Amino acid sequence: MRIGHGHDTHRLQAGTYLRLGGITLEAPVSAVGHSDADCLVHAICDALLGALTLGDIGRHFPDTDNAYRGIDSTQLLKHVVDKMKTRGYQLVHLDTIIHLERPKLAPHLDAMRAVLANHLQTHIDRINIKATTGEGLGIVGRGEAIVCDAVILIAKEVML
Ligand code: MG
Repeated sequence: MRIGHGHDTHRLQAGTYLRLGGITLEAPVSAVGHSDADCLVHAICDALLGALTLGDIGRHFPDTDNAYRGIDSTQLLKHVVDKMKTRGYQLVHLDTIIHLERPKLAPHLDAMRAVLANHLQTHIDRINIKATTGEGLGIVGRGEAIVCDAVILIAKEVML
């Protein structure tokens, strides 16, 4: 078994929608980024690359490369999942935290879990997403940023 830890931050600006967890939400803010700025998917990619001892997301998908400008981040996740599969691993469990002041995410978490389960080629019961606010404090609380954390456990398929 191998464990990975991922973390990501994106600045927020006034907007009408937010890409998060592979879905599009109506929101008063949008995340700023080179790709579609899906902070949760980036943290998951980072965690999975960590578990595979393959460095980090910036090394594999540099934001200086125009190939990734505006890209749907689930395409990046697909690349990383392919690396996991070719090495004979599959996901055991994924736990995540989204730190965001608004909008409220609870109504959308199951839709994100379903999309992520599909991309990670696993069952929805192996994916957890928690959402928390910054209680008005710090970059999250002031609505300046979205921050996501992910912890992932993978195992050789023969162990499952
Ligand atoms: Mg990012």
